[in-house]
Amino acid sequence: MAQTETIRGGRCSRCDEIVPDLELQTCSICRSLFCRTCAVEGYGRFFCSDVCRGFFFHGDGDETEEDF
Ligand SMILES: [Zn+2]
Ligand SMILES: [Zn+2]
Repeated sequence: MAQTETIRGGRCSRCDEIVPDLELQTCSICRSLFCRTCAVEGYGRFFCSDVCRGFFFHGDGDETEEDF
């Protein structure tokens, strides 16, 4: 008899692995899912990539310099 155990999880958008929900995080920048292995730490939180970490640092609606 087959024991079907469904693990709640999702696919990491970075490494394409299926990982359990507990190890998945949602990037606050691009909303993609990433696992702990792929997580990039910065500024007290985690991002899916170095790019998104950069976005968090730079982008706060303040990218336009004062230009008269
Ligand atoms: Zn991953
Ligand atoms: Zn991201």
